[in-house]
Order: sequence, then C-alpha cells, then structure tokens
Amino acid sequence: MDGSAGRQPLNWCPSGDASRPESVVLGVRSGDQGEVVYLADPVPAAEVLGSVPEGIAPHRVLRFASHCVSDCANRVGEACGLIERIRTVPAKSEAGSGAVPRCHLRPHCKWWNQVGVEGCHRCPAVVTLNPHDDELNVLVADPETTLEQLESWMAAAQ
Ligand code: SF4
Repeated sequence: MDGSAGRQPLNWCPSGDASRPESVVLGVRSGDQGEVVYLADPVPAAEVLGSVPEGIAPHRVLRFASHCVSDCANRVGEACGLIERIRTVPAKSEAGSGAVPRCHLRPHCKWWNQVGVEGCHRCPAVVTLNPHDDELNVLVADPETTLEQLESWMAAAQ
C-alpha cells in the first residue's frame, strides 16, 4: 500500500468502506468483545468478501480500511470527526493505555496522523456497525453529533 504516491491520498480511514475498490482488510474482529486483531499485511477486501457467509454483514467479522475521502460525512474540515467523538467518550477497561497494536496501516492512517497513540488505543474496540440499542455508540457514530452533545449525554447518564 502506498497512500502517498501519485494521486493517492496520504490518509486511509481505519473504519473504512469494504465496497470501495481500494479497500483492504485491516483486521479480524474476535473474542467476546469483538476487538480487532490486526493483520500483519493488508489483504484486498475484494479477495475476502466472497468468503463471508451469506447473511453476515462483513463489518461484523472484519474491519476494513479505505481512502479517507473529502466527501465523508465524518469530515470536519481536514479532520476526522469520528475519532474526535470516540475520544470524547472515556475508554472502557484497559482500552486507552498500554502498547499500541501492531498495525500495517499506521504510516497512512488518518487517526494516527490526527491524534497519535490515543487513536491506536481506542481503535481495536471500534465497531463499524453499532447495535441500534446502544444509544451512546449510535451517538458517537452519527456525524451530526457534536462533542458538546456527547458530553451532555454522558453527564446526564451519571
Ligand atoms: S488508529 Fe492505530 S491501530 Fe488503528 S488503524 Fe490507525 S494506526 Fe492502526
């Protein structure tokens, strides 16, 4: 992967769209919490999507990376609003400290370039599809949600 060559963007989104032509598998969701285990090397999404059993949304079992694009709903100027909303919510358990995952995307990763190690600490727990009954996760995922709204929600929930 060379995200800086030619017309390719510098940044890749680590919560990407599996259907984009450049999309690669970032990692596999595993364990009870579905945390991402990162692949050592990128694998084109197109090569694995056909292996996901029918009836299972690919994002339920895999995380994808694709280009960070200017018309993304999460864009706030040049920044990614999604990782800003994610880091506004306190991390559960040990997520948010310790060593960062080994990750093939790092040199090109939008979140790494924007918020550094904090993005990597939060990254494994990020799910691309959120259960609709998890109100806080739905709010975090919604590009319309402001950081102030998130803070108000958390204050009200305490
Ligand atoms: S935030 Fe860190 S762990 Fe996640 S994809 Fe980017 S570089 Fe990899």
